[in-house]
Parts: sequence; structure tokens; C-alpha cells
Amino acid sequence: MLDQIEGLHHVTSMARDANENNSFFTDVLGLRRVKKTVNFDAPDVYHLYYGDEVGTPGSVMTYFPFPNIARGQRGAGEVGTTVFAVPEGALPFWQARLEGMGVGGLGRGTRFGQAQLRFTGPDGDGFALVEQPGDGRAPWTGGGVGVDEAIRGFHSASLRLRSTGQTAELLRFMGYAEAGRDETVTRFLREGGNGAHVIDLEEHPGAQPARQGAGSVHHIAFAVRDRAAQDAVRRAIADTGYGVTRPIDRDYFWAIYFRTPGGVLFEVATDEPGFARDEEVAHLGEALKLPRQHEHLRPWLEANLDPIAA
Ligand code: ZN
Repeated sequence: MLDQIEGLHHVTSMARDANENNSFFTDVLGLRRVKKTVNFDAPDVYHLYYGDEVGTPGSVMTYFPFPNIARGQRGAGEVGTTVFAVPEGALPFWQARLEGMGVGGLGRGTRFGQAQLRFTGPDGDGFALVEQPGDGRAPWTGGGVGVDEAIRGFHSASLRLRSTGQTAELLRFMGYAEAGRDETVTRFLREGGNGAHVIDLEEHPGAQPARQGAGSVHHIAFAVRDRAAQDAVRRAIADTGYGVTRPIDRDYFWAIYFRTPGGVLFEVATDEPGFARDEEVAHLGEALKLPRQHEHLRPWLEANLDPIAA
């Protein structure tokens, strides 16, 4: 069993409109945009990163906005809900705020005894806020949400699967322990993790496969400290028979990817070097940052990418 994985690193989804996406995560959810770059594999599309002040692993929601993409169709083999942690007692504030801002899909619920507020993003993305007592992570408060309510980072990702067995086995191998069942949901917990250390597996035996599009999660990334830890995880995952990519330089972290048995794409990303690698912390997310291999595209990109409001 592996012991290098700390919890989630980031969640990456697809959107239709870059400005709408930016406004939702900064103005509505109060996160900080910590990087404005492009999709390294399709550089005519933005890659926008939102998180806490410095984009601490476990707090980072990222998006590829494809202007003409169709909306995704919900189903099995995807992340159904991305869940953010807020302090105890903060849900009434969030319910009033999200209602007041016209956010859709609002609903209260309870999972594993924790109160949840569900809502949808601009493209129907499935989100929830959960009150997580004792979460010591420092929130970003520069986005208009105070310290008593602000999002601390991720709480969990909830995966919708036709059958959970093989993914459960994989999570155990990755260092997660089963923490209980609530109806059709099995919870996995990384003991001593980074705060974003819960994965829920929802079993939906009759569900059609999801079709990815706007509002769909593209992949979830798990955090490891450094490249040595990543190499150890990569070798172990490959030894169990998974096809894992080589480590890829994403400028702000190194990434490996592998497809899991239930269909969800997993990444393992390093905590280093982080988002302050090419910008001052005070100005994170302001300028368009390009990786070296795409720097020659800057004039074209600056003329053609839809400008994003500060
Ligand atoms: Zn990623």
C-alpha cells in the first residue's frame, strides 16, 4: 500500500465561457484566480486555476473553457460532485448568498452526518459545500467572503460508478481506508491527509455512461510532495497493471495520468514548484502566463483569446 498520496491536488473540469467561469469562481464562490494560462495540450484554449491565496494543493479548481463545447451528459464513470469545505455554521450564509446570486440547483442534504448544500455551476457542474469542523486550512478572504465562511479547499470528490469494487481496491492501494457506508455511497479517507482527503464512491448500477462536455469533470489529481514520491507511486501503479503516462511538466507541478476501472481519469501531481514559480504571490493569476513551448504563440493568443475581467 502506498503512503505518498496526501489527498486531492486539483480538480479539472470543462466550461463553455471563460468569463462566466471566472466570475462564478471569483465573485460567487470567493476563490482567487491563481493562474491564467492555456491548455498545454491545446494552447488555443485557456486553462484557468482558482484556489486559496497561493493555490495550495487541495484547494485548486481548474477549468478548460472551450467556447463551442456542448454541455456534458451526466452518467456513470465520472465525478458527479466536487465538494468544498466551509467552516461549521457557514451553510446558512452560503445558502442565502447563492440564492441571492441566482445560483441553480440549490438543495440541502446530509451525507455521513455532515450537512451539505448542493448547487450547480454555470454549465450544470455538480458542486456541494460541506461544513468541516476543525479544518485548519487558511482561506482566501480577498474575494469578498469573510474568514468565518470562506471556502477552505476541497472536502472531497464524489465519483459515480456502475460498480465500485475495483475503484475501491485502487483507492485502498493508494493509501485510502474505507470509512463507512451511507446508503449507496462508500467513503474513503486518507488518514493524516491534506484536508482534501475524502473520496466518495457512489454506486449507480443502471446508469448510462457519462458523456463529457461543458460542466463535466475532466480529471481529478491527487497530491504527492515531490517527484521522488511521484516516481514511487508511478512504479507501483504501473506494477499493478495500469497504463500510466510518463511524468509531464505542467510548469506548476509534474503530472502523471492513468484511467481507472470505473472510467474516471486520475492524475498524480507534485506539490512543487507551485503557482508562485513565475509570478509574485501578490499578482497571481493576473497576467497571461505561457509555458516556454508555447511562448511563440503569445501574439496570436493575446489577439484571439477572449479577454478575462480582472
Ligand atoms: Zn490536472
